[in-house]
Amino acid sequence: MSSKKRSSGSKKNTRYKTRPPQALGVRPAKSLGQNFLIDEDIIEAIVEGSGVTEDSLVIEIGPGTGALTLPLAERAGHLVAVELDERMLEGLRVKTFSLGNVEIIHDDILKVDIAGVISRELEEYGLRDVRIVGNLPYYITTPIIMKLLEAETGATSITVMMQKEVGDRIAAKPGTKLAGAITYSVHYYAEVSEITDVSRDCFYPVPKVDSVVLRLDLLPERPVEVQDEKLFFRCIKAGFSQRRKTLLNSLTGLGDFDKNTIAAALDNAGIEHERRAESLSLEEFALLADSLGGITCLNESN
Ligand code: SAM
Repeated sequence: MSSKKRSSGSKKNTRYKTRPPQALGVRPAKSLGQNFLIDEDIIEAIVEGSGVTEDSLVIEIGPGTGALTLPLAERAGHLVAVELDERMLEGLRVKTFSLGNVEIIHDDILKVDIAGVISRELEEYGLRDVRIVGNLPYYITTPIIMKLLEAETGATSITVMMQKEVGDRIAAKPGTKLAGAITYSVHYYAEVSEITDVSRDCFYPVPKVDSVVLRLDLLPERPVEVQDEKLFFRCIKAGFSQRRKTLLNSLTGLGDFDKNTIAAALDNAGIEHERRAESLSLEEFALLADSLGGITCLNESN
């Protein structure tokens, strides 16, 4: 793993910082990925690891019963929480009212114009630093992370909890066995570090999987130059869609290139036809996409 470890914590839960959700009369909805954090040390590790200060505008994804919302808001300049489950809203409002710096948006995070919300809030509160934090609903981890990375939010970092297996893939170094399409996509935008492993016993109800908290620090510029980002991501996706196949075969999944064109592009990029997607570096995927794009342009102009 390329990730740096900032701290660790993984143990049986014995203490509650907030009242456990079962005592709040809210029945956790499995369909919304509701596993509520009930471990004080993990809550502290996330808040600490997120780097939130009084200069920060915090965007929290899925506040639920507010386990992270309160300690984050106590440190932040302003906090905007996006929650889909209407049943959570009243409790959140009551809990955060006295802090005076919490706003709740009742919506699906995948539908919210997050860059728009951020620029509005920054202007209104005169803040400059943006931190995105959340114990994510696991059923939509990848779409949420990709949305946050692709949107021009200007955020400094994204600190998120996710299923351990997904986190390990994201934190893997491109070019290693554990790497997947998500590894390359995330490393194109951010430096990844691990805050802490989290045992399943730190949640109510107890989920079937363990978790990990990652921090993604947005890079000031892309680590590799690509002529056509769309084609670059399509190559990554096609390469990993059949990861056991050689690149020459898996890239035929792109659909619009024949095998000869793919072979020529691999040759131009200096990549052997028999290699598999996970053996490529980010630079090699960029070279491959540029090479494929270059051949297409040549063919079109002839
Ligand atoms: N932050 C709380 C905690 O740590 O205890 C709750 C985390 S729980 C894993 C995920 C939260 O995301 C739930 O409150 C759930 O209702 C909310 N959620 C699920 N899907 C969502 C969506 N599409 N947009 C916004 N929130 C969502």
